[in-house]
Amino acid sequence: MKFKKQIAGLQAYQPGKTTDEVKKMYNLDKVTKLASNENPYGASPKVKEYLNNANVDYAIYPDGYATKLRTAIAQHLNVSEKQLLFGNGSDDNILIVSRAILQPGLNTVVADLTFGQYKHNAIVEGAEVRAIPLTEKGEHDLEKMAEAVDENTAIVWICNPNNPTGTLTPSDKIRAFVEKVPSDVLIVLDEAYIEYITDDTYEESIGLLEKYPNVLIMRTFSKAYGLASFRVGYAIGSEEVISQLEPTREPFNNTVLSQEVAIIGLEDQAFITECKEKNNAGRAQFEAFCKERKLNFYPSHTNFILMEVKADSDVVFQGLMKRGFIVRSGNALGKPGYLRITIGTEEQNTELLQKLDEVLQEEGVL
Ligand code: PMP
Repeated sequence: MKFKKQIAGLQAYQPGKTTDEVKKMYNLDKVTKLASNENPYGASPKVKEYLNNANVDYAIYPDGYATKLRTAIAQHLNVSEKQLLFGNGSDDNILIVSRAILQPGLNTVVADLTFGQYKHNAIVEGAEVRAIPLTEKGEHDLEKMAEAVDENTAIVWICNPNNPTGTLTPSDKIRAFVEKVPSDVLIVLDEAYIEYITDDTYEESIGLLEKYPNVLIMRTFSKAYGLASFRVGYAIGSEEVISQLEPTREPFNNTVLSQEVAIIGLEDQAFITECKEKNNAGRAQFEAFCKERKLNFYPSHTNFILMEVKADSDVVFQGLMKRGFIVRSGNALGKPGYLRITIGTEEQNTELLQKLDEVLQEEGVL
């Protein structure tokens, strides 16, 4: 068959093991997954309340324009409704953007290490990927990324805060970059973890849109809003960019229930603030652990942390899994010798760090 040549050998996304699989494998009663940066506190309790009483006609297609959700987000962010694009998660928005813009002969600039879907989608579209190493601090090296831009560059991806490092690239550097890059290059700011940022040097990126219509910001309900299973992401851009992207979007890419729960989640900002505060405390538990044991870690502005284990990541990952915790091995993320761990509840973090001590002792690290 006439498959695209470039997808030969391309691996499908490898999801980690589910908690049920791990329970069965190791005969465990309780398994905690701290691997995909979901919210350990779930979603706003108002979502559950709604779902318990939801009365939806399942035979009818959802609103393909997500009108009510669109109005709610436009008001929340003070942008026009035409500045929003809705995706089945940010994953879908990354695909929509790639599909609309990339093709053979064009290139896209990404960081190395960053979220893998930018590269993955670029490969599918046959575009060249220019991956520029992060700085030592884990920031995007925007000077080198700007140097990599040429007349065939179509998209630059800036993941901020970055997955898997959790690091924040300063807003002033992003502003300088946006000023420098030609206006026919789309600059995507993927802000999947924005709700967790506490650094007061972060400047709301929406402010860039007025002057730079080639900026597109991506956000999601999968992380702090605790609604990953519903698959709702949205992009904020200039009206002209959004109108060009819309035709590559599937007609009904958010379900009826997902649109409703996203609105409810958005309305409960007190829940988001509470989660953010608890996350700060949880992150401090991990940082203290690393400092006491002299393990390197990247300063995180998210609900996960990338930390050194001074041993084979896969071995430590397996050791934790046997003890009932699923995390991400650095080997799977391009950072051998490290683990990426989602910050859980205080109790989950305490238990996980105890188990990690056991594994590191077993491996002769401590
Ligand atoms: N961008 C980043 C940086 C992410 O970490 C993730 C989730 N792992 C996504 C996008 C995709 O999120 P979703 O599709 O669930 O909105």
